[in-house]
Amino acid sequence: MRRWKCKVCGYIHEGAEAPEKCPVCYADRSNFVEVDADGNEITAAAASEVKQEPAIHITPIAAAAPQAQTQGFLTKLVLRLHLHPISVHFPNGLLPASVVFLALGVLFGFAIFNEAAFFNMVFVLATMPIVMVTGYLEWQHRYKGSKTFLFLTKITCSIVVLISLLTLVVWRFINPAVADPASPDRLVYLGVALVMLACAGIAGHLGGKLVFAGRNR
Ligand SMILES: [Zn+2]
Repeated sequence: MRRWKCKVCGYIHEGAEAPEKCPVCYADRSNFVEVDADGNEITAAAASEVKQEPAIHITPIAAAAPQAQTQGFLTKLVLRLHLHPISVHFPNGLLPASVVFLALGVLFGFAIFNEAAFFNMVFVLATMPIVMVTGYLEWQHRYKGSKTFLFLTKITCSIVVLISLLTLVVWRFINPAVADPASPDRLVYLGVALVMLACAGIAGHLGGKLVFAGRNR
């Protein structure tokens, strides 16, 4: 059985040929390379070792150098310490909590839960720049800025989370009673929070799919 690796996300496919599309990140067949049992790429050169050395060597320095230079200190730190998967724990953990608190406040009039929801959202908003910058760097360098359906959906979802979170925090700041039982806007406010939670859930699910791409069993 031949083994094929997706160069974008690391997914391993076993079969006679590479799949039409990667089932994890949706990259097309051209992104797959054949690998051996240890996961090392089987290059055309390695496959035909009898081939003679070419007379003229074209040194690929110019092609390799910019990539190395653009990987600055911050990028190396982000990739090596897995700062994106770590920082997403803040929205992934606190947004469900804040939406549950908000629902208790809006639907049952528990003012103290509205307070808790607000403070949780302020904290998540403060972490969002780290989440988005580390996510961007990870996308650019680990996944080569791939624009497949998975990455575009993930980016769109994170932008919706940021905008809706900003809206909820600013709205509540302008009108502290917006989520109170007497407020005419309370259900709209809760609706925005639910959209935010759904998008955070989708972005998190796709992130998990990418992280576990290499483990297909
Ligand atoms: Zn893939």
